[in-house]
Amino acid sequence: MDVPVDSDLARVRSFIDEAQRIVVLTGAGISTESGIPDFRGPQGVWTRDPAAEKLSNLQHYMADPDVRRRAWQARLQHEAWDAQPNAGHRALVTLERAGKLDTLITQNIDGLHQRAGSSPARIVEIHGTIHEVVCMQCGERGPMSGALARVRKGELDPACFTCGGILKSATISFGQALVAADLRRADQAARGCDLLFAIGSSLKVFPIAGVVPVAKDADARVVIVNGEATEMDALADAVLHGVLGELLPTLVSGLISTS
Ligand code: NAD
Repeated sequence: MDVPVDSDLARVRSFIDEAQRIVVLTGAGISTESGIPDFRGPQGVWTRDPAAEKLSNLQHYMADPDVRRRAWQARLQHEAWDAQPNAGHRALVTLERAGKLDTLITQNIDGLHQRAGSSPARIVEIHGTIHEVVCMQCGERGPMSGALARVRKGELDPACFTCGGILKSATISFGQALVAADLRRADQAARGCDLLFAIGSSLKVFPIAGVVPVAKDADARVVIVNGEATEMDALADAVLHGVLGELLPTLVSGLISTS
């Protein structure tokens, strides 16, 4: 991994100082230091076990009770329940308190940005949240904790209490449409920003990775911060490779809180 030199960091810091409306897109990489593995990084869940991808596919989930039972067992064991926000999440809180952050678009479902102190009103959870369940038939939502308690008591595939439909975590599975209003909000934020950071994402998951070229086309500066090269490095004004929990606090150090 190339380690950024001080002049790269200073240049990106000058971008932050000059910016007034920053949009940040985060991916699974910002939460690995909190103990939640990503999917496609070197230690990613799918890198190590390609068959695990099936559990995240809507078609398989809806059609196959065995996939649902395995998905519920995986949810019971999910690292998000015990995870704590890390220095990378906290750096984005600093950016917000400095009055710089317009919108935080996260692909993550773990809720760690909110736990770190980012304002829920500024966050777009574009791939949903694991902290709620939704009925795929009637759309009723409820807390994940209640559904997991039922699984612990022996229900292998708990059904919706209201209509008997299939329950799923309120996350966007592969093959499932995004919430149109969330995608619109993310797109508008990218069009209106003057600096976009893409952080801890392979930028392979569309349509949300598309906010990066959208911001570029709208004349915003684009900075990619990740542990390895991404699909979109070529269009970025700066690319920083390194460990997020070290790089992000360095980038925001000394920013003065306006709130
Ligand atoms: P990804 O797995 O495709 O890519 C993550 C990237 O982060 C990789 O390039 C990896 O090298 C990098 N990375 C990992 N840890 C890092 C660190 N400490 N410092 C610097 N770089 C680091 O992730 P994605 O682009 O977000 O796509 C995965 C999809 O899976 C997302 O849509 C998301 O919804 C979901 N997901 C979410 C979580 C979560 O909520 N924490 C975890 C896994 C997957």
